[in-house]
Amino acid sequence: MTHPHTQEIAQALVDWFTQCGKDYPWRRTTDPWAILVSEIMLQQTTIPTVLGRYDKWMQQFPTPQALASASEEEALRSWEGLGYYRRVKALRAAAQTIVEKHGGIFPEKFEDIHALPGVGDYTVGAILSFAWNRPAPLVDANVSRVFARLCNDSTPIDTPAGKRAQWELAAEMVHPTHPRAYNSALMELGQTICTPSSPACIICPVRAYCLAQDPASLPVKTPHKETTALSHHDIWVLSDKGLLLEKQAEGSRHAGLYRLPQRPAEEAAHLTQICKQQYNVTRYNVTRYLHLADVASTTIRPGEEYIPLHLLDSIPMASPDRKLINRYLQKSED
Ligand code: SF4
Repeated sequence: MTHPHTQEIAQALVDWFTQCGKDYPWRRTTDPWAILVSEIMLQQTTIPTVLGRYDKWMQQFPTPQALASASEEEALRSWEGLGYYRRVKALRAAAQTIVEKHGGIFPEKFEDIHALPGVGDYTVGAILSFAWNRPAPLVDANVSRVFARLCNDSTPIDTPAGKRAQWELAAEMVHPTHPRAYNSALMELGQTICTPSSPACIICPVRAYCLAQDPASLPVKTPHKETTALSHHDIWVLSDKGLLLEKQAEGSRHAGLYRLPQRPAEEAAHLTQICKQQYNVTRYNVTRYLHLADVASTTIRPGEEYIPLHLLDSIPMASPDRKLINRYLQKSED
């Protein structure tokens, strides 16, 4: 992927961003820890959602030391609602690495940052450019789309060849003296103007250099796998000791988070269904059935325990579980 006007595009982006760039809390800091937190939060979470959570998180965990010394349960509880919990586990592991391996000082070398858990090429580029204004390239989904359109390139962006071409262009185009503003501009262009389905080319600061003939048809991606339907049968067992919950085991996707206990469909078939919940996670279409079970006939399985109701707010849970429990607790009180 090449473009004959990389330098002009980079300068136009810096000029545009200097005048119109949005003000976010993570753009007011050059603290690499604060930038790492924002970048991890912004993966798979929208900017408005992160804006509602970022300042509070930074107050609770202002340094790598603060997060490194927190328990996993405390970190998971603070992350609740942001989803994709492996991110916060990796962030805590990165904080521990910074404390144990780098004496609590955020590393400045590419390879040391890249070695932190949960940190890939994009995040290194973001930290180096936003914290130290170093000319490091970055490519995320927004940047991929902008590049494919600027170059009118129909190589699928999610193939090895497509990714390599994107990173080569990013390295060539990065502004040598204003990489912080340039990288911010590039991402913001993709977020606000060069959007997936209806790019606002008329107000685009780089439209004079854009080679796209049919912008909405780019970028090209390999076709998605089809959605898979999943069903779960949860049980609701409330005793005078609390609500029966399961702490998910190490190695599972939601390790450390609590959820309602699950039972096989044939075991749940004779129980009364009291709630149904549907949602999508990645490529799965999940349907959960909640069944009422009584204390005496429920066998408690490994990992399951009664949690007193007044402690429910303090333990970590994925949002669908929290919603389901709150919904049914409210129903029970009505
Ligand atoms: S001119 Fe349109 S398609 Fe090209 S970069 Fe700008 S917004 Fe995207």
